[in-house]
Amino acid sequence: MLHDERRALVVDPGDPQPVLEALQHLGVKLEAILVTHHHLDHTGGVDALRASTGASVWGPLNEKMPEPLTRLKDGDQLMALDLVFKVIDVPGHTAGHIAYFCENANGTPLLFCGDTLFSAGCGRLFEGTPSQMLASLDRLAALPETTRVCCTHEYTLSNLKFALAVDPHNEALKRYMERAQALRDNGQPTLPSSLALERQINPFLRTRQPALIQAARSFDAKAHDDVSTFAALRQWKNQF
Ligand SMILES: [Zn+2]
Repeated sequence: MLHDERRALVVDPGDPQPVLEALQHLGVKLEAILVTHHHLDHTGGVDALRASTGASVWGPLNEKMPEPLTRLKDGDQLMALDLVFKVIDVPGHTAGHIAYFCENANGTPLLFCGDTLFSAGCGRLFEGTPSQMLASLDRLAALPETTRVCCTHEYTLSNLKFALAVDPHNEALKRYMERAQALRDNGQPTLPSSLALERQINPFLRTRQPALIQAARSFDAKAHDDVSTFAALRQWKNQF
């Protein structure tokens, strides 16, 4: 949820109840619901929230969505809370997955990337190919390094265990593991992350690094370029 003390927007409300409680607690009105892809844990709260708040709903062009909504494709823009959000097509986790990028949210770029990019990881490939997902991650990784990365699941610690297994000599990764562990031990989220950090530590953004290519080869001897390295790492993570 993002709010300006008067109005709020939410991204991917899987469940209406925590959103309604937060709206009441903050005393703000829900203006917009942004959806990144069709999975139920991202859309389950849309109908109830639309009905009880009258909020506008935005979502991807080519996915099954709770109607009515405004459908968006790559390059489209929407305005909510007086902020401009640009749509980026990021197929891979699902075929029509989109991300929302705000270049200037009170001085900070903000990315809502759904289940495409996680801290220290990425989404599973349910509907797309490794080359599609890698191209999607490349587009996100090319955004400004100060971008705050708002992922939709707190998978950081489990992702970090895999990241350390495949990139064990990465000092920034080791430091982040300690920081993330301390945050979780205190009941705090590790999110949002930042692109600067993810470029340093996320194995799925580092598939052109020799250390990661070599690690991928230990899992699949055929790994040789960025796409086959990405595919091997993603497959390895699935069974890690
Ligand atoms: Zn999903």
